[in-house]
Amino acid sequence: MDTDFFLAWFAGMAELIRLRRDHLTELDAAIGDADHGTNLDRGFAEVRQALAEWPPTSPEQVLLSASNTLIRRVGGASGPLYGTAFRQMGKALDAPVTPAGFAAAFEAGVRAVARLGKAAPGDKTMLDALAPASRALTQAVQEGVEVREAFERAARAAEEGALATIPLLARKGRASYLGERSIGHEDPGAASSALIMAALASVES
Ligand code: ADP
Ligand code: MG
Ligand code: MG
Repeated sequence: MDTDFFLAWFAGMAELIRLRRDHLTELDAAIGDADHGTNLDRGFAEVRQALAEWPPTSPEQVLLSASNTLIRRVGGASGPLYGTAFRQMGKALDAPVTPAGFAAAFEAGVRAVARLGKAAPGDKTMLDALAPASRALTQAVQEGVEVREAFERAARAAEEGALATIPLLARKGRASYLGERSIGHEDPGAASSALIMAALASVES
């Protein structure tokens, strides 16, 4: 996986988030402050702009540039959380990027979200999509399946994890202020994490 692969991944994320912006914002309207889709759409559009303006020359640089933009430009919880995930992932990546190296770096990114958010799977956050995606990815890579198939399994695990947040009670973030009333709604951050993984599975390589 080279620099172009990572650029294509971020282009795919920006596209999917644009398409699903209103849906993400509706999810956040139910249990948050109705800004998740607009926050991320603006943030990922700026990520693409910065990557076009200062072309990165390595996968690590793609991830660090995206991280900087998201942390500086996306308000709210999700900007710093996604920004930190991509930063730690970038720092953990060794060139050339192999499937096993990608999976290990992704796991480092997910662990950084848990640390920063003081959250665990089951708290009804983006981690409920990211953690199972990381597990599925690592397992698929260990099994030695084609990288495309590994990414598809990770994307499916993220989507299932996001839907599985519906019956959960939120324990972190704004949704936790609602207590029992957070039950019955999909977590917006878990939904956007599923899009990030769907974009990964759609990169042409
Ligand atoms: P804000 O809640 O500040 O408006 P967003 O709407 O952009 O930020 O993002 C909300 C999402 O962030 C939630 O749906 C949840 O997935 C995630 N989130 C919030 N707090 C945490 C946390 N402490 N740990 C992990 N994820 C969190
Ligand atoms: Mg919000
Ligand atoms: Mg907000």
